[in-house]
Amino acid sequence: MSSTYYVLCVSHDPATQGTEHRTRGDAAETIKTGSALHPGCDLVIEEVSGGPVEIGCPPAGSRGSGPRCYHQDVRWTDVEWLRLLSRAYTSTDPKVSEAVRQGRFTCWPQERLHRLRGSLGIEDEARERLVALTDPDTGRVLAAGKVTDVDRADGDMTLTVVQQDPLDVPRSDGDPATLPPGMNWRDHITAG
Ligand SMILES: [Zn+2]
Ligand SMILES: [Zn+2]
Repeated sequence: MSSTYYVLCVSHDPATQGTEHRTRGDAAETIKTGSALHPGCDLVIEEVSGGPVEIGCPPAGSRGSGPRCYHQDVRWTDVEWLRLLSRAYTSTDPKVSEAVRQGRFTCWPQERLHRLRGSLGIEDEARERLVALTDPDTGRVLAAGKVTDVDRADGDMTLTVVQQDPLDVPRSDGDPATLPPGMNWRDHITAG
C-alpha cells in the first residue's frame, strides 16, 4: 500500500493537519522552506498507509520551534513505539518511570506526544478506562464498563459507558484488590 505524508502542526493542541505530500522528501522540503500557514510553529510529518504508521521529527533547524534535537535528517519513529512512550510517561511503575528518565527522548517530550494523540490512537486517556458504578451504602458494584465518550461542561462531566459483561465485574467488594484488571480504585463512581 502506498503512503501519504502529512505535515502536522504540533504547536496546536491537538495537532492540526497541514499539507499533504506523496514522498517523505516533499514533506521535509515543505517544512524546510517554511510553511506559510504555520510560521514559527513546531511541525512533524505523519506517514499514513491505511492508518498512521510513522511520525517524522524534522531537524530542529528546519522548523520554527519544538524540541532542540541534534539529528540532521528527519528522524522517523513507529507510531506503536510512540504510543508506548506516551503511556510510559504517565506510568506509576517506578521502573517504567526510570526507563523513561534514562531514555532522554529528545524528539518526543510528553506534551508533543499528547498533541499527537489523534495519530497515536490515544484520543482521550479516559476513553480506554474502565469505570464502575457502586452503591454508596454497600460498596456493591451496580454496573461497570468501558468509557467511550467524555463530555465536560461547566464543572459537570458526562461519561458514556459501554457496559461490561457482568461476569467480569466483582460481585461485591470495597477492596481495590478484587477489581478486574485495568480498573483503578479511583475510577469508581458512586451512585448519586
Ligand atoms: Zn501552527
Ligand atoms: Zn527530533
